[in-house]
Amino acid sequence: MKKYAIGIDLGGTKILTALVDRQTGEVVDYVKKKTKKEKGADNIIRKITESINELLDNNNLKQEEISSIGIGAAGQNDREKCNLIAAPNLDCYNLNFREKLSPNFNIPIFLGNDVEIAAIGEMKFGAAKGYDDFVCIFVGTGVGSTIVKDGKIITGATGTAGEIGHVIVDLNGRQCACGAHGCLEAYASRSAIEKRIEGALKKGRKSCILEYLEPGKAITSSMIHKSIERGDELVTQCVTEASEYLSGGIASIINFINPKLIVLGGGLIDAVDFFYQHTIKKARSKSLPVPAEKIEFKKAALGDFSGVIGAAFLEDRKI
Ligand SMILES: [Zn+2]
Repeated sequence: MKKYAIGIDLGGTKILTALVDRQTGEVVDYVKKKTKKEKGADNIIRKITESINELLDNNNLKQEEISSIGIGAAGQNDREKCNLIAAPNLDCYNLNFREKLSPNFNIPIFLGNDVEIAAIGEMKFGAAKGYDDFVCIFVGTGVGSTIVKDGKIITGATGTAGEIGHVIVDLNGRQCACGAHGCLEAYASRSAIEKRIEGALKKGRKSCILEYLEPGKAITSSMIHKSIERGDELVTQCVTEASEYLSGGIASIINFINPKLIVLGGGLIDAVDFFYQHTIKKARSKSLPVPAEKIEFKKAALGDFSGVIGAAFLEDRKI
């Protein structure tokens, strides 16, 4: 077995590329670049190529010493063809990584989605180590999840299983980016909380979050955290509301799949402990009594690196 693999977490704002030791899961070195999706798919491929070359050069490694390049991207993937079919938050459609990268790299290339690679990372070296049956849920701009059963990721008939963000929690509810109404993501994501806070501020509600806001910049998880710590009524109310919806979605998963463990991660979970604690307490109380008694909850343990570590192990997946 070759010692190293390259793991890439391709997100809407940044591309994180890491050299990962496949024995220990250690991130030996990494390169972070801005995605700048408005510059198109070729620019993304160029940045990925540069990042890999930088890692090889800086660590005196040759291509032959790398076992694979694993890429995780938020979107619908054809894993077999290594084709990113549609990724609205990257403005990428039909981007075939194998075709685009293989002229420069004679290394096997694999593709997965962003939550899938994070779940693999957590399963190998993080919060889900030692568990075969669990669900990973990441709350950020959206809400995504991955289902692991008997140590294998459940991808579903079209590879899109685990879309908890599009579980419908209100039939006549808010419009979701996917086109449907009332999806969990429109209530429980950081973006949803942001919209609620902004809407209330426009109506004249007072909040200490105003002290942290900068014109044209988004509300961050850290601003939400600081406001809750200060006992801010509006922010606490919006976060509690999001948590109520998220706990409903999680209770449905507990009743439907009956996993041993639920791992919660993402910026909002990391930064706002109140959101995590309130969500798991309510999820337990909303679940059926038998699974509720046994279900375990953990916070994701690998932070920003869970994705790149997991991507370095995509090669082990049976397609
Ligand atoms: Zn939706």
